[in-house]
Order: sequence, then structure tokens, then C-alpha cells
Amino acid sequence: MLVAHVLARHLDSVTVVERDTLPDHPAHRKGLPQGRHVHVLWSGGARLVEGLLPGVIDRVLGAGGRRVGFQKDVVTLTAHGWQHRFPARQFAIMCGRPLLDRVVRDRVLTSDRIRLRQRTEAVALVGDSVRVSGVEVYSLENGTRETLEADLVVDATGRRSGLRRWLSALGLPPVEVDIVDAGIAYSTREFVAPPGATGGFPAVNVAADHRTGQPGRFGVLFPQEGGRWMATLSCTRGGKLPTRSESFLPCAQSLPDPLLARLIGSVEPLTDVFVSHIGANRRLYPERLNRWPDGLIIVGDSLAAFNPIHGHGMSAAARGAVVLDKWLTEGDLGPGAAHRTQQAISAVVDDPWIMATSKDLEYVGCRNESTDPRLNQEVSYTHQFAELIARKSIRSQAVSDVATDVASMSVSQVELGASRFLLLMQQAKELPELLQAPLRPDELAIANLE
Ligand SMILES: Cc1cc2nc3c(=O)[nH]c(=O)nc-3n(C[C@H](O)[C@H](O)[C@H](O)COP(=O)(O)OP(=O)(O)OC[C@H]3O[C@@H](n4cnc5c(N)ncnc54)[C@H](O)[C@@H]3O)c2cc1C
Repeated sequence: MLVAHVLARHLDSVTVVERDTLPDHPAHRKGLPQGRHVHVLWSGGARLVEGLLPGVIDRVLGAGGRRVGFQKDVVTLTAHGWQHRFPARQFAIMCGRPLLDRVVRDRVLTSDRIRLRQRTEAVALVGDSVRVSGVEVYSLENGTRETLEADLVVDATGRRSGLRRWLSALGLPPVEVDIVDAGIAYSTREFVAPPGATGGFPAVNVAADHRTGQPGRFGVLFPQEGGRWMATLSCTRGGKLPTRSESFLPCAQSLPDPLLARLIGSVEPLTDVFVSHIGANRRLYPERLNRWPDGLIIVGDSLAAFNPIHGHGMSAAARGAVVLDKWLTEGDLGPGAAHRTQQAISAVVDDPWIMATSKDLEYVGCRNESTDPRLNQEVSYTHQFAELIARKSIRSQAVSDVATDVASMSVSQVELGASRFLLLMQQAKELPELLQAPLRPDELAIANLE
């Protein structure tokens, strides 16, 4: 939708080809299975979305979404202990994915330059290795095939994109792909939140301890619009996840801390569990091809998809849309322009890529099928430094601020190597270790935990 909006700003006519029927209210749909699990839009991405669609974040908040301040509004257990709830430096928009999508879609599709073709599947690219001139589509309504001609085709079909196959059919060499797969799986269940435990209630995040040599196990509880709590349990390869309702609570009880289990233990479930195995990091490298057809761009998960635990996918997709906007504003539409733009889009997914993959490699059984040299070298120094940052950031506001800037995709992770940050690491004052979850008495009372 962000890309459709950008294209409509610069071009006469935009056709969105979508396999699903898009619901006219916030609802789950087949083509977006991940929408049933917790989603946050980090501040880095939220600012980009707001820049493209002014007012849209307020509409999400008006419809029940929340602006959650990090670390003030979050109770987090890291591998190194409980995180102090420092005053918020960054934020995330927290709501159900169907709500976010609905608000964005409502806004984007008001443009009379955009035509939506629902129940229509993109099945091939049309053109040759020099220039893509359209898409072949298949109608799920009446089983017919048709060619849609276009000056520019953008593939935003997500993790399961057929792009590599489609490009081979045009006679292009295979696009290189890296996969780093920690075997992430998600299991989610929704609950009725106790009265007053959505608006001001903190999000809860129990992270895995990757140092144990055991599969990583995580749990989060995010207050949602409509008086709901959404709890997601996840694990890396070899870990056990609840696939049935009755095993959800016992599994939450066996997390590194029982807080999440205590919270959901006495509330009424709204749904059964929903399980997904879609968490591998996968990145295509179109920029490495010597030849790239004019008239073709890839964005979003189709280009690079990450372990969702970091919550970076939507922000990375927004970054791609912003680069595309800049390209079209500059009006550089000549030969080779699509390749140059693709290079720029590929560059802005590098931060989330390296953050997710380097962390995932620490988990037992992680499959590394990558050529990225940073993921295939002796990483002990970088690893130790990342551990030091993680340890300090839970007790030092100054370190936490910079780490949160990076995690929220508000600044580049290059900042963590800057001399001012190294100095800050040396001088940062640390608060005492927290021995229990930093929930305030009023929060404990709301959740019936006092
Ligand atoms: C469990 C989980 C949790 C996540 N949590 C977060 C989070 O907290 N924060 C965050 O930022 N990101 C999160 N993500 C990542 C986020 O969901 C994706 O990065 C984001 O949806 C990517 O957007 P996209 O438009 O590229 O692809 P998608 O959102 O996957 O959209 C692809 C669209 O293309 C359609 N489609 C697919 N193939 C075709 C075809 N051949 N023809 C026509 N239509 C087609 C689909 O129906 C769909 O509408 C999470 C992902 C997972 C798996």
C-alpha cells in the first residue's frame, strides 16, 4: 500500500494486484498469516509512514492503537536481567496488524489513480532480460489469464515471492539469496484484558537466554485495541511450542520468568492458538546482478524478510517505499535507473538484516546458508561487544537510549561503533540490578497480581 501510494504521487495510473479479497473492516486474511501474531511498528518506521501519509498514525491511535514508549511502557526480561523502565526515548505503535493495514489501506485507496485488482494473482513477469514491460495475472474469480502492461512493476508479494523463478524465465542469471534460519515458530492466543489493562498497561516481553545452549524461548504480551491482550510464545529450532489451547499456559509457565503466565492465568481466552513457522531471515541480492531489467523493483519481504522477533519488517518495507519516492521525485527514469534504485533500496535493508541474522546465529541449530562475509567469520569480538551493550543497556539510561535508537530503526547501527558511543559505554552510570519485574503497584492491582 505504501508503494502504491508513492507510485500514485508520481505516475498516472497504478494497479495493485492482490490475491486476497481485502476486508472492509480490520480482519484477518489468508494472504497475511503473520497478521494473527503480535506486530509493532517501531518509531523509525512510524515516522516514515507518517511522512508518506500525514495523519495516518493519529488515525491508528484514534482507532485504539497505542503509542508505547520504550522503555517506560515496557516490562522486559533480557538474558541479562530485568530492564529498567527508563523515560521513553523511542516508541512503537502497538495494535493488531489488521487495524494498521485497514487504516493505511483506507487512506491510500482514496486516490483515483489507484485501481485495486483483488482475487488476482501475479504469475509471471512479461518482457525480457533488458526490460520488464508488465505482469501476467491469473483471475481467481473466473480462471482467466491476462497481461497487464506497465512502465514499472514493483514486486511486493512478500516472503513467498516467485521473483527468482520469474526472473529466470526471462533469461536472467539466478539472483543470489542468503538464508539464516534459527527455526523460529510463533504461537499466539488472545485474551480478554482485565478492565483498565490495555490503555496504560505495559507491554511485557520475556526474552530468551541464548547463552544456555538450549533452544531460545520467548514470550510477549501486548495490550491491543478492543480490550484485548495478545500473547505470543515463540521458540527457535528444537524448542516446544503450544499447538493446542490447553498447552498454552503450561508453556508460558516454563519461560525464563512466569510473569506472562501469571498475567494470562486468570483471564478469559478469546481465541484458540494460532501457530506459524515463518521466521527465517531471507535476503535476495538483486544489486549483485550485472544486468537488471529496467522497469522492475523489489521491496518489502520479497526483497528481505527477517526474524520477526525484532519487529523490523514493516519499517524496512517503509524504508524501501521512501527510497522509491525519492527516485521518482528525481525523475531519473532512463536506462539503468531501476538497478540504481534497487541498489539504494537494498542498502536500507542491511541494518535490520545484520541485526537479526547475527543474533540468530547464536541460537543452537541455526542454519546458516549465507555468503554474507560478516556472518561467516570469527565473530567473538563483535559478539562480546553486543553482549556488553545488552548488559549495560538494561541499567544505564544513556546506553539504553542509543540501543533503543538503533533497535527502533531510528538511527543506523553504525552508531554502535562510533567513538562517542564507546566513550559513553565506558562512562555510563549504572543503576542497581532489578531483582523482580518492574511493575508498579497500580499495574499489579489492575492485573490482579498484588
Ligand atoms: C510472526 C510474524 C510477526 C511479525 N511481527 C512484526 C512486527 O512486530 N513488526 C514489523 O515491523 N514486522 C513484523 N513482521 C514482518 C511483517 O509482517 C512483514 O515484514 C511485512 O508484512 C512485509 O510487508 P510486505 O508488503 O512486503 O509483504 P506482506 O505483508 O506479506 O504482503 C504481501 C501481499 O502480497 C499478496 N500476494 C502474495 N503473493 C501474491 C501474488 N502472487 N499475486 C498477488 N498477490 C500476492 C498477499 O496476499 C499479501 O497481501 C512479522 C512477521 C511475522 C512472520
